[in-house]
Amino acid sequence: MTLPADLPVVDHHCHLSPGGEGVAAARRFRREGGSHLFLATHNWSHAPLRSVEDYRVQFESIEELGRRIRTETAVGTSLVVAPYPVDLLETADAIGLAKAVEVQMQTLDLAGTWVREHRAVALGEVGWPHFPVSADHGSAAEEIFLHALGVAHDVGCPVVVHSEELAPDGYRRLSERARAAGLPSERVIKHYTRSYVPPDARSGVTPSFLARKETVAGALMDPGPWFLETDFLDDPKRPGAVLDIATVPRRASAIARQYPDRVDRLRIPFVESVRKLYGFTPERRSGGPG
Ligand SMILES: [Zn+2]
Repeated sequence: MTLPADLPVVDHHCHLSPGGEGVAAARRFRREGGSHLFLATHNWSHAPLRSVEDYRVQFESIEELGRRIRTETAVGTSLVVAPYPVDLLETADAIGLAKAVEVQMQTLDLAGTWVREHRAVALGEVGWPHFPVSADHGSAAEEIFLHALGVAHDVGCPVVVHSEELAPDGYRRLSERARAAGLPSERVIKHYTRSYVPPDARSGVTPSFLARKETVAGALMDPGPWFLETDFLDDPKRPGAVLDIATVPRRASAIARQYPDRVDRLRIPFVESVRKLYGFTPERRSGGPG
């Protein structure tokens, strides 16, 4: 069995760079059966970001790349914007911690404006470094994250969280912080969830599972909401650091071949969860140069 013709195939989290494979990567995704990419902004310049203006340039460059992908490949794109939490360390080294916090806070406000203007669909990645940092950096990251939750509540959008892999206790604390900010736990998405986490261990937080074979096998029986992602980095300096951009459509096709009776379960990550959290239905666009 091949994938149903009306089933969109969605990578919920990847990065593409103006100076990387870019549009060609989206074309490969499309060739394998992919139809929609959630593009998260990131620092592709390899220089520390020092101001909100630097971030605005970053956001605009990824927005432009998304536009080119839609017109040149018929792959749909949705933009996810925020100051990447690990940027804080580099920015603090360059301009001092207090100023770096200010830059990240103001950039979150900018990201909120983009969501309000429908230029972006979520704030992400937000959260904290996935490795140990100093107490000062840690509390700064926490302060920024709480601001991100507040902005997401104000503009009514999900947040895509970057953090270390979480145990049930970590999910519980995440959900408590969201609810304190007035944000339903479900609108908090734990990105880069490496292994399958059942609903009773994630306190209402929505997982975006890395599209690895074993992880997807567990997720297929899950009522959702949940997503699949690659976290593709499009960084020639780090080949193979994460999954390739073609992984989600390849995994979906493999499921259609091996477990044809389960292929309908893929409507959960590709249709129902997108509709539930983002309020739109991804479409499989026909035509385009493929
Ligand atoms: Zn990422």
